Amino acid sequence: MNDRDRTFSNLSGDGKKFIPLYRPDLSGNERRYVLECLDSTWISSNGNFVGRFEKEFARAVDIPHAVTVTNGTVALHLALHGLGIGPGDEVIVPTFTYIASVNTIVQTGAKPVFVDSLASDWLLDPDEVERKITARTKAVMAVHLYGAICDMGSLQKIAARRNLLLVEDCAEALGATLAGRHAGTFGDVACFSFYGNKTVTTGEGGMVATKNAALAERLRFLKNQGQDPQRRYWHTELGFNYRMTNICAAIGLAQIERLAAIVARKRAIADLYRGLLGNSPVACQKPNAAVASSEWLFSVLLPEGIERDRVAGFLADNGVETRPVFHCAHQMPMYLSRELFPKAEEISRRGISLPSFPGLRDSDIEGIVDLLKASLRR
Ligand SMILES: *Cc1c(COP(=O)(O)O)cnc(C)c1O
Repeated sequence: MNDRDRTFSNLSGDGKKFIPLYRPDLSGNERRYVLECLDSTWISSNGNFVGRFEKEFARAVDIPHAVTVTNGTVALHLALHGLGIGPGDEVIVPTFTYIASVNTIVQTGAKPVFVDSLASDWLLDPDEVERKITARTKAVMAVHLYGAICDMGSLQKIAARRNLLLVEDCAEALGATLAGRHAGTFGDVACFSFYGNKTVTTGEGGMVATKNAALAERLRFLKNQGQDPQRRYWHTELGFNYRMTNICAAIGLAQIERLAAIVARKRAIADLYRGLLGNSPVACQKPNAAVASSEWLFSVLLPEGIERDRVAGFLADNGVETRPVFHCAHQMPMYLSRELFPKAEEISRRGISLPSFPGLRDSDIEGIVDLLKASLRR
């Protein structure tokens, strides 16, 4: 059975009902645009879908400049490197995040400085950020997890007062808004991911967006091997090949055309989950009042004393894929630290994500919630 059959029948290989954690919705112009690419033979990064995707993306998130790259991780690396962050610098980052947020800081030669999260929205705690600032601190990386947005008002004030750069990791927050403004519009630079399970996907892909025209120009130069834009094969600085292919951009353009519909469906899914789980002992992520989450992955904290692996196993036995939330970076071998981050550790220990893709039916969600509730009673 191929992926296409699965899309329509919702069955796994052995014919049993299977609900994956994620499945991209490629039902718009994706196929048409990719075929246009193939027919034209423009399949490298030299093709007109790249520019079209960047333009439509910039419009969708209301940030003037958008630069495509090969994935969300290199988006972060390019942004940090492009801002001049490197050896001797410190970058403040939540310990509860996807590892790419931390690794890319280290890849520049800078040092990641971990902070705890807030118990309410699971995102970095501005008071903790303030406490960790030293003479070496160059930037704060605000990571907007699961579709919510950090307290950017407080972070902007801290950044302005202490003269710090503000980087937004928006990999999970495309389509989210704070006081009506899009994720990515609050900092100096914003990074997005288009991995297969992200709100908008190109398979693998990423974007760096900024309102700073000079920075955007520098990012384009760096992602193209540091080549002089006026002189081919003349490289004036260490650069990278982080260019997105035209095929990926073709898929991205078709996806971004339907961003509003995708986010609307994901919000409806999360609302349904929340309603059905209202009287259960699980705790949902609680974004700040002014945040309209994009509801990337609907995730909950299981009650204290409930073993997450057992719940996940029970759901898996019944054909429902889940996934644990991230481990804290300071608990992994590379970044092991004795310092305690009690809130982040608790979220990391108790959190689990439920299927959250646009094609999910309401009846699927009801079934998933029934299974989750049953697993909590056992
Ligand atoms: C997905 C993700 C990334 C990295 O994106 P890739 O495209 O997988 O490289 C970075 N940060 C966060 C928070 C993510 O969820």
